[in-house]
Amino acid sequence: MSKDLRQSVSLDAVNPAEENLTAKENRTPFAKTLFGLNKEALTALMVNAGEPAWRGKQLAESIYRQRVAAISEITAFSISLREKLAAESWEVNRPEIVQTFHSADGTERYLIQVDGGLTVETVWMPEGDGGDEGDAETVDEGARHQRATLCVSSQVGCPVNCQFCLTARLGFQRDLTPGEIAGQVLAVLDRHGVEVGRDRVNLVFMGMGEPFLNYDNFMAGVRLLVREVGLSPQRMTVSTAGVVPGMECFAQEPAELRPRLAISLNAPNDALRDELMPINRKWPIAAVVDAVRLIRLRPHERITFEYVLLGGVNDRVEDARVVARLLRRTGLPVKVNLIAWNPGPGISYSLPQPEAVEAFRQTLVDAEIPAYVRKSRGCDIYAACGQLKRTVEG
Ligand code: SF4
Repeated sequence: MSKDLRQSVSLDAVNPAEENLTAKENRTPFAKTLFGLNKEALTALMVNAGEPAWRGKQLAESIYRQRVAAISEITAFSISLREKLAAESWEVNRPEIVQTFHSADGTERYLIQVDGGLTVETVWMPEGDGGDEGDAETVDEGARHQRATLCVSSQVGCPVNCQFCLTARLGFQRDLTPGEIAGQVLAVLDRHGVEVGRDRVNLVFMGMGEPFLNYDNFMAGVRLLVREVGLSPQRMTVSTAGVVPGMECFAQEPAELRPRLAISLNAPNDALRDELMPINRKWPIAAVVDAVRLIRLRPHERITFEYVLLGGVNDRVEDARVVARLLRRTGLPVKVNLIAWNPGPGISYSLPQPEAVEAFRQTLVDAEIPAYVRKSRGCDIYAACGQLKRTVEG
């Protein structure tokens, strides 16, 4: 499946000048990629190669649990079997970190190389960003990472064109494959020595791109992370700008595979949302809320509404009252994550005043809507929300 997806992507829009800043071609021409294939596909591959089916399970465990980066590292296989795979042009070919930017607050932003010499952005926030405030959390005393959050991209660039977002300025280049989505996660878990099952790391699919415009690949990436890597979907959150057909598909996913859902709201009404997020003209707020209602929530699960506060645009107390009324009318268990807008070059919005942020939050809380202010992490390295544009100055 993933090979077909790879063949169908278009690289027409790539800007070679920008990519040359970071990319290196690390693949043998015509190599076949193992990373991204699930256990069933790996089993079929081994059977086709004349090996017993259980070799497929060993291969999946080596790639996704032991996180080997090369066929030569698969110690479960004999040297002759490793050589046979290599001779048939198979490579692990996991996406790799090619550049790292360090923030004073401990956040790291990575450029991660995917097929075709392209890079996407992934962000590691060791203290989290407060986005999981209000969600049930278990504390494991033995874990080295309790609150770390990993922000993952789903597309190269983004077609959605939210007016306050730097990523939108890149335009859309292409969808990421399932392996490229899951590969970002494994590359960063490896870097930080995260032990799945012991350390608790949250994943947020809020990096570059709109996951629900790349729905099949996004969910196939999630399935790899849940079934093959062993991560919990309850510690994953996917954010959508409100792509209703994607939300309708999402509502059909089984609870054991479905991440939590966040809706990027950002305006109290359709008129302002049309301006800030042109996608609202296609799927207005009421249609998005109707699609949210289709999802069968787990016990204690809440739908998160993300709200980027733009100074003087959508941050008045009156706006907060309208948002509160809107969310109360849904009758859904919700919470609101407020994000003070992060400035980016060429985008002419203003930072909200801290008093306005607090007044907005308090207005929601007074209306019995749980509301939290997400901390801006990594602003100094363009790692914060809406800033992911493969900026290479650190
Ligand atoms: S905010 Fe998200 S959906 Fe909107 S343009 Fe930026 S990356 Fe795309």
